[in-house]
Amino acid sequence: MTKMIQCISPVDGQVYAERPALSLSEAQMVAERARAAQAEWAARPLEERIALVKAGVAKLSEMKEQIVEELAWQMGRPTRYGGEFGGVNDRTEYMSSIAAQSLAPMVVEDSDRFLRQIAREPVGVVFIIAPWNYPYLTTINTLAPALIAGNTVVLKHASQTLLVGERLAEAFHAAGVPEDVFQNVYLTHDVTEALIQSRAFGFINFTGSVGGGAAIERAAAGTFTGLGLELGGKDPGYVMDDADLDAAVDSLMDGAMYNAGQCCCGIERVYVHESLYDAFVEKAVAWVKNLKLGNPFDAETTIGPMANKRFAHTVREQIAEAVAEGATALIDPALFPEDDGGAYLAPQILVNVNHEMRVMREESFGPVVGIMSVANDAEAIAAMNDSPYGLTCSLWTSDPERAAEVGAQVQTGTVFMNRCDYLDPALCWTGCKDTGRGGSLSVLGFYSVTRPKSYHLKKVTK
Ligand code: NAP
Repeated sequence: MTKMIQCISPVDGQVYAERPALSLSEAQMVAERARAAQAEWAARPLEERIALVKAGVAKLSEMKEQIVEELAWQMGRPTRYGGEFGGVNDRTEYMSSIAAQSLAPMVVEDSDRFLRQIAREPVGVVFIIAPWNYPYLTTINTLAPALIAGNTVVLKHASQTLLVGERLAEAFHAAGVPEDVFQNVYLTHDVTEALIQSRAFGFINFTGSVGGGAAIERAAAGTFTGLGLELGGKDPGYVMDDADLDAAVDSLMDGAMYNAGQCCCGIERVYVHESLYDAFVEKAVAWVKNLKLGNPFDAETTIGPMANKRFAHTVREQIAEAVAEGATALIDPALFPEDDGGAYLAPQILVNVNHEMRVMREESFGPVVGIMSVANDAEAIAAMNDSPYGLTCSLWTSDPERAAEVGAQVQTGTVFMNRCDYLDPALCWTGCKDTGRGGSLSVLGFYSVTRPKSYHLKKVTK
């Protein structure tokens, strides 16, 4: 019997969209079509592929109104924040601008006697498995460079954002990208894993949870398929004694609460130098009290429901456990009467926390942040590193050298100074420890979706 994949809206708890999942044989036919279409696509001039990808993104931007509304229904993001078009356009533009240079052969010798060079070859079919939290941005990070580099792409989007893959495919096909070059599919986990096991792909980019990433790695074992695994985080902020306090509060609280805290590089724990601790906490509480929880279609709403009541339940459990273990919750939930015990969750700040508590160790992926006082850089570094994750850290100081010195000792993918919760398309988006492996964006993003091929051409016979 055909299984239906459903998106349950966090706005009203109703089924917002459903689509039939493909069987394994149907999915294999999709992969086969992608394989068959790849050589012709790769043979097109680079400039033509770039133009088509840019045209696809332009078509997507034309669908803005529909997409913003659909995002609110699917994952609860307030419509006042628009879609993800700024980032999607910037990243596509940037990756397009560096494509020729990134994909050009590295010439070691071009003399009368030899041509020795390392070229970049597309890997074939790239499989993207995407999460719901930034559904367009996380997809474009791989989709744009993969197509530009001459691969074909199969996309499996999250059930929670079921319509996102459909919209991307619609836009790209309308722009002239052939249907078999970019296909959107609806798959169960079992079929996804079986498809991977059947060696259908040259590279898989998985963005999602640690558990999901481990399942994909197991499915790919023995197939020698390249993997990019962009997984969870528990990103710290560290406010040093010479920081601009107001700027630190503004950015770190926004980094903790934006998108209802559902950002992979959202701030989940903050360490503040003891000299600024009390002032930081006081300002942070005032900042959070200004948030407006509510229906994402209401123009006043700054924090919508979490994408699924299951996610809000996890955050509530973490908060309750921490409080039972001695933490103090500084935000009275009565200030947020829209908290319905389901997907709508009041934001929270916890103090008197420690690293024994789940809320300071496990990813919360919700609107809660723990704040601790630290005496010096060494203590802050030890606390930041006391985590199974390593995606980003956000250092607040007026001294770039100190930031560089501290940053060098933090086990992380990206070091920020005086900013957070941001992706720079010119830098590699990557992580360490349980945050996964591989990298997207930047020149290294092109390396993920291509393989090196060496040419040693002797131009003379003696
Ligand atoms: P998720 O539950 O792991 O799902 C991510 C995607 O993988 C979805 O399309 C999901 O499909 C699919 N999936 C999960 N397990 C699978 C399996 N065993 N076999 C096949 N497909 C599987 O993660 P999420 O809740 O969507 O996203 C939130 C997580 O993503 C957080 O941990 C966040 O930190 C992380 N994230 C990381 C980054 C980064 O750059 N490092 C960026 C964004 C998000 P279904 O939806 O159908 O289950």
